[in-house]
Amino acid sequence: MSRLLILASKLGYQTRSFAEAAKKLGIEVVFASDRCHQLEDPWSDGAIAMRFDQPEEAARRIVTQSMVRSIDGLIALGDRATTTAAYAARALGITYNSPQSVENCRSKLRQREILREAGLPVPGFFSFRLDKKIEKILPRVHFPCVVKPLRLAASQGVIRTNNPEEFQAAVARIKTLLQSPEIQVTHEEELDRVLVERYIPGTEVAVEGLLTRGRLRILAIFDKPDPLEGPYFEETIYITPSRLPEEMQERIANCASATVRALGLTHGPVHAEFRVTANGPWVLEASPRPIGGLCSRALRFGPDRTLFEELLVRQALGMPGSDLDREDDASGVMMIPVTKSGLLERVDGEDQARATPGIEDVQITARLPDFIAAWPEGSSYLGFIFARGKSPAEIEAALRLAHSLLKFEIVERLPVEHPVTGKLPDGGALGENQKNTG
Ligand code: ADP
Repeated sequence: MSRLLILASKLGYQTRSFAEAAKKLGIEVVFASDRCHQLEDPWSDGAIAMRFDQPEEAARRIVTQSMVRSIDGLIALGDRATTTAAYAARALGITYNSPQSVENCRSKLRQREILREAGLPVPGFFSFRLDKKIEKILPRVHFPCVVKPLRLAASQGVIRTNNPEEFQAAVARIKTLLQSPEIQVTHEEELDRVLVERYIPGTEVAVEGLLTRGRLRILAIFDKPDPLEGPYFEETIYITPSRLPEEMQERIANCASATVRALGLTHGPVHAEFRVTANGPWVLEASPRPIGGLCSRALRFGPDRTLFEELLVRQALGMPGSDLDREDDASGVMMIPVTKSGLLERVDGEDQARATPGIEDVQITARLPDFIAAWPEGSSYLGFIFARGKSPAEIEAALRLAHSLLKFEIVERLPVEHPVTGKLPDGGALGENQKNTG
């Protein structure tokens, strides 16, 4: 029996979907996680506990374990696990991305430097340490710009600013976020810096691709029909196939191929984002991982509607059947935005939303009564709405209607004084929900 290693920071529903796809194929699954001590162990087969912030050591643990239970392929879910996956793959002789290529993607600054060097269309950028005096930084800033942390994901801490006052406030806000215990505990590098980029106008697309020994196959281009103009950038609707002209889609595909080539990525899933202007696509970002959260459910392949997860499991193990094309139907997902931070106390209208024509499913993933943070501090959606139909326009309408039928009661948390210090908490608190991002 083949054995697949799944590396993930949390053992939530995304991990479960991959495990189920593998089990359906008669494949044994081994998990490696850096959060196992906190989380359920739904398969009770014991994840290998490790620290993804020490990837070489983590990879050694995997190699040791593989002597007892050999590993034939691996999948990393989420950015944090990819470096460990690359070191482990290299040691075990498994086809995957090199550690260097994965590292090229982990830091938004490094990725920008490499892509600029390779002549790819990226916005002008610079980075600075957060202990620098803002007066020294301001002369270098062109407005509008986007300020962002170097190592977070899901648009967390990403803020557009239009003038020096907004810039100063955004930098202070990101600093508070990066210094919060919830972020510090990740031991990520570069939490003391931010990246400043020119704001690129235009529409946005997400690209899901699959690399096989250096060749990129585009699985789907998702349009994002809601404008993403800031100041914060939480996602909402993704719809495929794209309604962009064929010629522009081709340019996006070519740009995606050039991007992964420049970064050195060679094998496995790729999730990338592009801004699209009349002059063509601009690279926002590429990561060697599948689309996050439950969004992958929007992707089905071939006449039997094979799951995206199954496609990736097959590819990871070198099994046939990973070359299917996406189904003919249009498909979409809405990541349900968080309108304000607070305690999620009640959700109404789920049944009505689910009964909307064209809607396949509604999944509320935020737990009740949990604190949920709005962007830019937040990074977890309230849930996901899925739609399938004949045309992208039809699906977009269905998603919007279903969303309008959902009512979320979010109660603002009253500030509570710390019992010892008497201090009020500041605004940088994060939700304790699992991250469930696109
Ligand atoms: P993350 O990896 O956290 O998602 P990104 O760098 O991809 O961070 O930024 C998140 C979102 O912010 C993007 O999808 C886009 O909508 C917006 N964004 C980021 N950088 C820019 C930019 N330079 N110009 C315009 N929008 C941007």
